[in-house]
Amino acid sequence: MMKAAVLKKFNEPLSIEQVPIPQPGFGQVLMRVKASGVCHSDVDTWEGNRPIKPKLPVIPGHEGAGIVEQVGPGVDFLKKGDRIGVPWLYNACGRCEFCCKSIETVCPYQECTGYTKDGSFAEYCLVDAKYVGRLPDNVEFHRIAPVLCAGVTVYKSLKETEARPGQWVAIVGIGGLGHLGVQYAKAMGMQVIAVDIDDSKLQLGEKCGADIIINSLKENPVDRVQHEVGGAHGVVVTAVSPKVFPQAIGMVRRAGTVALNALPPGDFPLDIFDVILRRVTVRGSIVGTRQDLQEALDFAGRGVGLPEVHTKKLDQVNDILREMQQFKVVGRIVIDFS
Ligand code: NAD
Ligand code: ZN
Ligand code: ZN
Repeated sequence: MMKAAVLKKFNEPLSIEQVPIPQPGFGQVLMRVKASGVCHSDVDTWEGNRPIKPKLPVIPGHEGAGIVEQVGPGVDFLKKGDRIGVPWLYNACGRCEFCCKSIETVCPYQECTGYTKDGSFAEYCLVDAKYVGRLPDNVEFHRIAPVLCAGVTVYKSLKETEARPGQWVAIVGIGGLGHLGVQYAKAMGMQVIAVDIDDSKLQLGEKCGADIIINSLKENPVDRVQHEVGGAHGVVVTAVSPKVFPQAIGMVRRAGTVALNALPPGDFPLDIFDVILRRVTVRGSIVGTRQDLQEALDFAGRGVGLPEVHTKKLDQVNDILREMQQFKVVGRIVIDFS
């Protein structure tokens, strides 16, 4: 048996209980979870506020870092003891148009860890061997765990902005995703504007290398970014509020790209004239492919994109989710299973 946090009913506390350790089937391995980050998407899973609902009961968690405990049939490239991590993209079909074009993140047949498949808020977790990340040897499990979702997601969306070295990127929301985004953007040679509504998050953004920080409760971020730098070549939205989406469009430079990561329920208006005459691109960005994930993990191995982490225990998972819901987390909380 293993200890797990199980979501049985939306908005009700996860139940900490003993459940059977699953057995790896064909193509799977059993991962012994050493650490699991808690992402804002786990709050969405708990609240059940996305258009497509998770299976219930479900064990949430999709930033799981650990080691291979048991290898299922058909897996000849992983062995017991290998350091692996499970991301949101549990697997994809591997044969649809999108998988064949290396956009497996939008595969209509994908499974999602901690959503349609049990995830990493447990001592053990089944994973699809072909879709795990290989962890660098030199980063501790609790430091690498957030890279499996927060890291790869914001790394990918920075690429999706098509901003180049020397150009300006604005990162709106300096939470788990955002503070890693600042680090990647600096490592890519960009100049970085960090925007949030909380000074403690902005301080972390500055520590991560942001050149300009803006508290959007105290000043208008659109005016400041347009006046000071002429607009950002790329904008990444990770702030969990529909209000920031029009701000992001306002902050982008002519011919620039806004990459959207955050998933608050709702919609936002787009001024047709403004978008067309400034030739602005607005693009959704969902996690990253296996290649993006490996690049983000390799970055971490070289000391770039390492999260600010606070460790807690699985028993505290309900407190963690509530703290996160209220935006009280600076950096990332990681559940430590050691
Ligand atoms: P987080 O709670 O760690 O960070 C959110 C940040 O947004 C906080 O710093 C908060 O202060 C800030 N914020 C809230 N309201 C704001 C406002 N009005 N203006 C500016 N900043 C504001 O969350 P996270 O784990 O970094 O996740 C961020 C979002 O990205 C969530 O919606 C999550 O579901 C989503 N997400 C999407 C993907 C994807 O693939 N697209 C992957 C992971 C997470
Ligand atoms: Zn996530
Ligand atoms: Zn597919």
